Amino acid sequence: MGVDAATVREAYESVLRQLVDHLGIDFSFLRHNDFEARATLLTAEWPPRLSVPDPDPLAVVKFEDADSVFKLAETLTEPAVFRPNPEQEGYRLRVEQGSGLSATSMSVVPLLHSGRTTGILGLIKVGDRSWSEEELNALKAIAALLSQLQSRVIAEEQLRFAALHDDLTQLPNRTALTQHIHNRLDVSMPGPVAVMHIDLDRLKALNDFLGHAAGDRFLKTIADRLRTFVGTTAGIVARLSGDEFVVVLAGPCSARVATHHAEVIADAITAPVTLGVERISRSASIGLAFGEPGRHTAELLLRQADQAALVAKRAGGHDIALFTDEMHADSRLRNDVEIHLRDAIAGDSLTLYFQPEVDLVSGRVTAVEALVRWQHPTRGLLPPSAFIPVAEETNLAGELGRWVLDRACRTLADWQREIPELDISMRVNISPVQLVTNGFVATVARALTEFSITGRRLCLEITEVAVVQDLSRTRVTLRELRELGVQVAIDDFGTGYSSLSHLKELPVDALKIDRAFVAELGNGATGDLAIVQSIIGLADAFGLNIIAEGVETQSARQTLIELGCTRAQGFLFSKPVSTDAALAILHGVRIDI
Ligand code: C2E
Ligand code: CA
Ligand code: CA
Repeated sequence: MGVDAATVREAYESVLRQLVDHLGIDFSFLRHNDFEARATLLTAEWPPRLSVPDPDPLAVVKFEDADSVFKLAETLTEPAVFRPNPEQEGYRLRVEQGSGLSATSMSVVPLLHSGRTTGILGLIKVGDRSWSEEELNALKAIAALLSQLQSRVIAEEQLRFAALHDDLTQLPNRTALTQHIHNRLDVSMPGPVAVMHIDLDRLKALNDFLGHAAGDRFLKTIADRLRTFVGTTAGIVARLSGDEFVVVLAGPCSARVATHHAEVIADAITAPVTLGVERISRSASIGLAFGEPGRHTAELLLRQADQAALVAKRAGGHDIALFTDEMHADSRLRNDVEIHLRDAIAGDSLTLYFQPEVDLVSGRVTAVEALVRWQHPTRGLLPPSAFIPVAEETNLAGELGRWVLDRACRTLADWQREIPELDISMRVNISPVQLVTNGFVATVARALTEFSITGRRLCLEITEVAVVQDLSRTRVTLRELRELGVQVAIDDFGTGYSSLSHLKELPVDALKIDRAFVAELGNGATGDLAIVQSIIGLADAFGLNIIAEGVETQSARQTLIELGCTRAQGFLFSKPVSTDAALAILHGVRIDI
């Protein structure tokens, strides 16, 4: 029988019809047991009753209220036969709906599964009828088939449920959600459709400190609250993954209304959850996106809501963000970058620009910093900010970093061949991800050997973020780099986590003062002056070189000299320039200042 949950009723009715015809009886029915509700449920009947009262008194009958026949459904294990008998008057009346017929004869055959009575098959003849041994045996065989069919349908339903629901919370899963949004975005549907991506803030910490069982209970509670919010509306709430939920609001929904709903949800989520003796409260980052039926796809809408939630999260969490046109442009760029970056690294569309660093007093070039650019086929020359973050998120930071390191070392080797007396170092930026990559120091050592560069000619620039992220690992890496003779500078100093206390123990050679502090120097901004002054004092105390970034004006240059900082880079001296232009500057060795 090729039957599933959707068509099973028809199949049951067809079996019942054949029984009615074959046995020459008047009415037959099939009932199944609901063990949880302790009731017997009408599954199918034949022929259909002429008029069914609403509510149908035969549809659901609790065992505790049942008459003697329906009571059998709970425990019957062998067929039972009833012949006309005043005791069954009650049942007769209910079945015949007052048709005026006087007496019935009936056999009831149990449906059994694993020794349990799962339902009954009932066959009724108006007037008297006897039931032969063979007939009852045949009915038992049919009941066995029906019972098999039922368990298969239940199993299929469970599978279907499992395929569309999340195990832990029983909420619809991504598949079911995508289907729902897909339907809602049909051209015939009203829009806009509001999709809300909900990301619980700092759930990991909860799992870490209270254990996963507590984390699971917390998630279930949140799921219940969201379920209550959606209630019986045409909306849906689904769980996407660990701490991510999505609510699709019912009906067409403006940004204003959706934002209001998001606030209600945010409050519902934030209300404390009791876990044993702890009362835990977690906020959420909520992203909203809106789809127009016929114009957007479910996948796009989900991605946009996700992206908006990320913006809310980056802003510190506990916030609601709407997907905007700006994010749209941004996301197109990111997608594009993701797709083409690997090719760019393997091919030749990446280039290095070089920005000289000068001695503020003599104008002599003391170093150059390698700054990567991407000659994108359609978007022009992209700055690092357009693709380095993507590289870091997509595991390409290592490859990109190796490319930069190799190219920078090779260029320095070329220049040294061209200008034997050249006395500069090459500065290379290292991303935080790259610094903790396995084999990083080996990569550096290999580049030095391959291009015959002495360690002290290479200076790696790392950020404060990288240093504090994994202090013990950074310390080991920096020691190993020092053994190679390679220099290390802390980039963008002053903007980060002020790892001042760590400076003492880390083998670092230089600090680069972030250009945010340098730009306004000499303009009378005393705050910046004080900061730069103290950074310089600090560098002196630790015996570190100090380099100022972003020097754009003579007054900034003058102020730095007065403060005792003698090395700097900035547009005042030179912008980052191509390899050839950099070589031309190096031939001059000195920059007019
Ligand atoms: P950074 O290491 O602080 O590099 C200096 C940035 O400041 C460069 O931007 C440079 O063009 C800019 N700059 C230099 N002087 C001035 C000035 O006087 N005024 C102003 N307004 N800006 C100035 P760029 O090339 O866009 O690089 C941005 C950042 O991207 C770099 O900041 C660095 O953190 C990162 N980066 C660049 N190349 C690489 C690389 O190869 N690997 C990694 N991991 N990061 C890189
Ligand atoms: Ca740098
Ligand atoms: Ca910098």
